[in-house]
Amino acid sequence: MKKIDLHDYVATVKDYPEPGISFRDISPLMGSGLAYREAINQIQEFAKDLNVDLIAGPESRGFIVGSPLAYALGVGFVPARKSGKLPRAAVSASYTLEYGGINELEIHQDAIKPGQRILIVDDLLATGGTINATREIIEKLGGVVAGVAFIIELEALHGREKIMEAGEVPFLALMEY
Ligand code: 5GP
Repeated sequence: MKKIDLHDYVATVKDYPEPGISFRDISPLMGSGLAYREAINQIQEFAKDLNVDLIAGPESRGFIVGSPLAYALGVGFVPARKSGKLPRAAVSASYTLEYGGINELEIHQDAIKPGQRILIVDDLLATGGTINATREIIEKLGGVVAGVAFIIELEALHGREKIMEAGEVPFLALMEY
């Protein structure tokens, strides 16, 4: 059977959300049972030697990657939510957005226990702000980042370097643009 190419399931949208930006839309990948499962299987393979206790993913597309992965690995999922959405005590971190502005993410204080090993996932790595904010919260809670995984890495934005500046961790991107 021919192995599928995940690149065939990424739609590039020119000048979205702003002129000059090419948005990589993973909706076709999510919409294909074959491609979605292939992507999650590849991340599961990466995760299998990392001794992961929990998966964490930022709102919203990190949930789409993280939830099936957590299920496949048989571990829990921790959402990093946009501020003001969590009902109980939470720890937060803020970051600058790729297209300008500031965003804040929050994780419930009791979601991670000191020493737990967390794999952070998202659909796409751009400047690294989202992932480093998620990491900051995890580390404030005493968690250990076991690795980071993305469906897509936008190489020109050097997010990978930003992540490694905060401390070397195992890294996976299924596709690079
Ligand atoms: P960063 O914080 O690394 O600059 O931006 C990454 C975040 O913005 C991710 O949560 C991702 O979902 C979103 N994002 C930024 N650019 C794109 C894009 O071209 N395509 C998709 N699917 N998400 C993007």
